[in-house]
Amino acid sequence: MVNAMSASYICADCDYAFVPEEAGDDPRCPKCSRTEAVEPADDSALQSDIWRQWLVVFALLFIAGIAYVVFG
Ligand SMILES: [Zn+2]
Repeated sequence: MVNAMSASYICADCDYAFVPEEAGDDPRCPKCSRTEAVEPADDSALQSDIWRQWLVVFALLFIAGIAYVVFG
């Protein structure tokens, strides 16, 4: 379960993880003051989402490959 009160973010620019004072759409990195490099650090859920997307991509490629072999 994700605790919305302690949503942490990580800055891709300086690798600094932090919890913003006020939860907004555009949390600012306290180190380098950037907003565009800041991403939600909600780790496990995000990771599994990425893996699911890659699984879908691979499944589609696999099916396309079979279709190419069978029908091509
Ligand atoms: Zn930063």
